[in-house]
Amino acid sequence: MEQAIAVYPGTFDPVTRGHLDVIERGLKIFGRLIVAVVNNPSKHPVFSTEERMEMLKESTRNMDGEIEVDSFNGLLADYMTVKKAKVVLRGLRAISDFEYELEMALTNRHLNEEAETMFLTPSEKYIYLRASTVRQIAKLKGDVSAFVTPNVEKRLAQHYSEQ
Ligand code: ADP
Repeated sequence: MEQAIAVYPGTFDPVTRGHLDVIERGLKIFGRLIVAVVNNPSKHPVFSTEERMEMLKESTRNMDGEIEVDSFNGLLADYMTVKKAKVVLRGLRAISDFEYELEMALTNRHLNEEAETMFLTPSEKYIYLRASTVRQIAKLKGDVSAFVTPNVEKRLAQHYSEQ
C-alpha cells in the first residue's frame, strides 16, 4: 500500500521541543511529512514566515525520514488537495486543546472530505509547553534551553535583545 502523506500545520512561532516531539512521532508513521507554516499576518507572529521555516529546517535537519518544510496561505483544506495529502497531523496536549482542535478538525472535514485529522500526544515533559510561554520567558531573559533547540534559543535571544 502506498504510504500516506501527512501535513502538520501550525504557527510554529517558534518551533518548540513539543512540536519536534510530534514531528518525530509522525515520521515513524507516515511515508512523508510536510510541516507547513501558516502564513497568517493577522496573528502578528513574532518571527516572519521565512524565519519560522528556517528554524524548523535547522531543528529537524538530523531527523530520520522524509520531511519537507513549507508554508501556505489560505485554507488548509485547499493546501491538502494541492499537496495530495490525506492526513492532517495535530498535537494534542492537555484537555485544554481538545475543544479548539475538535472544532478545527470538523471544519476541515466539512471543507475537504478526503482529509482526516490525526492527533498525536507528546512526551509528558512537553504536555504543558506552548510557544507563547517560551516567548514570554525569552523576553524576560530566562533560560529556554529545555524547551527549544539551541538555534531557536539563539534567535529568541537575538530578537529580544533588539527590542
Ligand atoms: P496554532 O497556534 O496555529 O494552533 P501551533 O504552532 O501552536 O499552532 O501548534 C501546532 C500544533 O502543534 C497544534 O496542534 C498544537 O496543539 C500542537 N502543539 C503545540 N505545542 C505542542 C506540544 N508541546 N506538544 C504537542 N503538540 C503541541
